[in-house]
Formats: sequence, C-alpha cells, structure tokens
Amino acid sequence: MIPSSKNLLHHVSTALIKNHDLVVAEELRSKNMLQNHALAMSITDVGWRTLLAMLSYKADLYGRKFLTINPRNTTQTCSDCGHVLTDKNKLTLADRKWTCPSCGTFHVRDHNAAKNILAKGLATL
Ligand SMILES: [Zn+2]
Repeated sequence: MIPSSKNLLHHVSTALIKNHDLVVAEELRSKNMLQNHALAMSITDVGWRTLLAMLSYKADLYGRKFLTINPRNTTQTCSDCGHVLTDKNKLTLADRKWTCPSCGTFHVRDHNAAKNILAKGLATL
C-alpha cells in the first residue's frame, strides 16, 4: 500500500471513531462496494482489512464500539420493510436508486445499505 492511502485510512478511521459512539462495517467488502463506494477507488482488499484493523484499535483507544457484520443482502434488502430483492429484480452495479417492490419506499442504494448494516450491528448488542 502506498503511504498516501495509508494516511487516508488513518484520517477516515480516526474521524469515524472520534465522531461516533458506534461504528459498524461489513466484515468482507462486497463486489458492489469495491466498484461503487466513494472510497473504493483508493481502497484495495488489503486496504479494507487495514481500515477495519484501524477502526478496531481506535475504538478501543477512544472508548467507542466497533462491530463488523456479515454483508449478506445488505444492499438487496429494503431497510423499511425487510423485503429482499430476488434474482429477477436484484440490483445491478449500475442501480444507484431503487423503489421497494413490496412497500414502495424509494431508496438511495448506499444509504439503504448503511441502514441495514447499522441495524445488523445493533441487533448483535
Ligand atoms: Zn420495502
């Protein structure tokens, strides 16, 4: 990893931990995140593991809680009603916004996934 990306990971992890009592992340980075997340372009697989390790020790350092959760269906689940998109209507990498076919809620993809990730984390507490 080049030094500047390590500095970025330090900056991001410190900001996340210092500004939040609880941080929840997917334990494995999904292909979706690899290709679409705003940070993904500068974070390799090694970088993701490094970021998770930084979040973990910084959470201890600052008295915060850091959890990782299974990434299964975090993108494909409606955070409002729990409907899981099936093969037929699964989101592709290009789908940034979608409407739940079950409850009609409009979602911004990453925001919806973030809500699901947080809910999964909270459920483990
Ligand atoms: Zn729904």
